[in-house]
Parts: sequence; C-alpha cells; structure tokens
Amino acid sequence: MIDREGKEYIDFFAGAGALNYGHNPEELKKALIRYLQEDGLMHGLDMATGAKEQFLESFERIILKPRELDYKVQFTGPTGANGVEAALKLARRVKKRRNVIAFTNAYHGLSAGALAVTANSHYRHESWVQRHDVSFVPYDGYLGSEVDTAVLLRKLIEDRSSGVDLPAAIVLEVVQAEGGVNVASIRWLREIEAICREHDILLIVDDIQVGCGRTASFFSFESAILRPDIVVLSKSISGFGLPMSVVLIRPEHDQWRPGEHTGTFRGNSLAFVAAAEALRCWETEGFAVEIRSRSRELGATLEQLAREFPAAIRQVRGLGMIWGLEFCDSAVCQSVARESFSRGLIIETCGSRRNVLKFLPPLVIDAETMATGLGVVRAALSHVLGQKSLAALPRSI
Ligand code: PLP
Repeated sequence: MIDREGKEYIDFFAGAGALNYGHNPEELKKALIRYLQEDGLMHGLDMATGAKEQFLESFERIILKPRELDYKVQFTGPTGANGVEAALKLARRVKKRRNVIAFTNAYHGLSAGALAVTANSHYRHESWVQRHDVSFVPYDGYLGSEVDTAVLLRKLIEDRSSGVDLPAAIVLEVVQAEGGVNVASIRWLREIEAICREHDILLIVDDIQVGCGRTASFFSFESAILRPDIVVLSKSISGFGLPMSVVLIRPEHDQWRPGEHTGTFRGNSLAFVAAAEALRCWETEGFAVEIRSRSRELGATLEQLAREFPAAIRQVRGLGMIWGLEFCDSAVCQSVARESFSRGLIIETCGSRRNVLKFLPPLVIDAETMATGLGVVRAALSHVLGQKSLAALPRSI
C-alpha cells in the first residue's frame, strides 16, 4: 500500500482477514470490470440472478462437493455479525431452546445477538442492553495446558444441577483471532463436537476470520474433520473485500419460513462475481500447498524471534497464515505495532490485553515480501526494547 506522501507499506493486517487474496487481485478485478461493462444486474434484492447462480455453482463444485458437504447456502445481510445473528436465530428456532454456549475470549461481532456471544468487556460494556441466554465456558487452554476444558463443559451439560441450561448450540471459533490467536487442539474440537452429538446440541462454527483458506484449508475445521451443523463465512468470501456473508446450514436444519431473516442487501452482485472468481484458486491443491509452505516460513521466523527476545515474548501461536506473538507486557506489544507502522508495516494487536501481535498477511504474499515485513518487526522489536522509556514513544498509529 502507498500513502499520500508516497510512503510504501507492507500489509500484515489484510483488512482484518477480508483480503486473503491481497488488495485488488488482478483476475478478480478483471471479472468485476467485465461484469460492469456487460451491464450485469447490480441490484436484485435477494432474487435469483445470474451472478448469484454462478457463485452457487462454483461453491458447490469447488468447495462443498469435494469435501462431501451438503450445506444449503443462506445469504444474510453482508456483515459477519449478521451471519452470526442468523445462525443463532436459526439454532434457537430449530432446538426450541434459549441458551447458547460461547467461549471465553470469543469474538463474533457487535450487533446485539452477536455481541451477546462475544466475551471481551471492551465491546460488551459499550452496549447498555441485557445479554441474556448465553453461558460462557473456558476455551481450550484458558485454564492452562494441564486443564481439559472439554471435560468441564461436559460436566456442566450433563449435570442438570450445574446451573447451565441445555443449549440450542455451541458457537465456536477454531482459532480465536481477535481473542488473541488461540488455537484449539484437534482433540478438543472433536470432543466438543462429540458433546454436541451426544446431547442434541447444534455446532456452529464461526469461520468469518479464519475460513476461506486462512488456516491453509478452505474451512478451518477440515483438519479436525468436524461436521458443523451451521458455518458462518464472511470477510474473504468475496475475495475482493466486498461485503458478503453466507450461512451454511445442514439441510435438515433449514427450518426458516420464507423471508424470516430478510434484509435489502443480500444479493451483492459484484461480491458474487468476485467470489466465484476467487474460488478458482481452490480448484487445485497447489494453492493450499503454497500457503502451507509460506506458513512454515512464517512460523519458523516467529519462533526465531521468540528465541532472540525471550524476556519480551512469552509464546508463539498459530497455524496456516494466522500467527500471534504473545508479549509479557502489552505496552511493549503495542509499541512494536506502532514502531512497525512507522517503519512501513501494517500490523495489529489482539487479545483481551492487546498483548498479542497478530500476523495476518494475505495468503498470496510472496516469500520475499513476507521476509521484508518480518524484518521490520525484528527491527521494531530491537528498537522498542532498546528504548529507555516506553513513554517517550509516539502514540499515534
Ligand atoms: N466473527 C469473527 C470470528 C470475526 O473475526 C468478526 C470480525 O472481525 C466477526 C464475527 C464480525 O464480522 P463483521 O465485522 O463483518 O460484522
């Protein structure tokens, strides 16, 4: 990216995960221009359109069928939060139960229903409404590596005197992105799914930030071989940063009445056109292979940084192209992000104390650009740790 003064930036933030294929990818841009030049229908509410048909056909052929998934696709309002709203409404409708289980450090969006399953008090306290009918339980690793929080969850559900009502659904991120790049283990994920199956609870996977290839497979839950009842995708599904959100529903749970979760902008033609084009990346294994090799380079460099700065960095976490460096001191973490920005790298912090530096480069970044960006972080780290007084650092980003 280049600012008004001509200064160049490498982007390790990628539109908070909306730009997995980079900024303005060429083939997608061409498809969009073609669609506009051919005078394709721009607004059709949520009716059947050629652009929607093409997306659905590609999604079925390239993503669902090879994975033996038979989801129905619901187009919701174009934000991730609206997809989450739809998923929660549907789960409660199907199971005729009010309670939903969500996890510590979860982030699912900021509209009322999505906020109710979001854990961070920074967001919850800005909304002076009641947030009923959600029980929060510890995510994998929340109580340290020795404690299996799935055992606790099972107990809470099986003991009818636990005070936790049997939920309609458990809503889950496979990697908590905003929550601090917390990566759930495959064993834990499978145990959560088993609890859902044994107790007739729907499993909702929020794949808004870590779906669409971020974990090196199209869906984040593929390596754990989960079969969620409902999946929410948004952010990078359009491939071009255009607003779009979909809810994938196992056919037996599609119990919506016509128009029950409606909205004006559920048929964003340009998003469909770009999305269909973006899916072509997934026609062969090559794309995922490339992501995995970039992931190894990224992870190895971060491990190296942790070895170089053991007093400052507590832990390295991640998979695919989402990684986090957890700092002992959140002020240092934020200073490193600011210093990186002043040196030409866009990178954000996450976690409840904003003490995790989050690496979220586009999936298509080349090895050289990524190495340059990581070099900026190393230099920023040396600089910040070399400073005598953190208070002297610039505070704007
Ligand atoms: N769920 C997850 C996991 C997210 O990361 C986000 C956004 O960061 C959302 C939901 C909300 O999406 P939106 O900001 O489009 O409403």
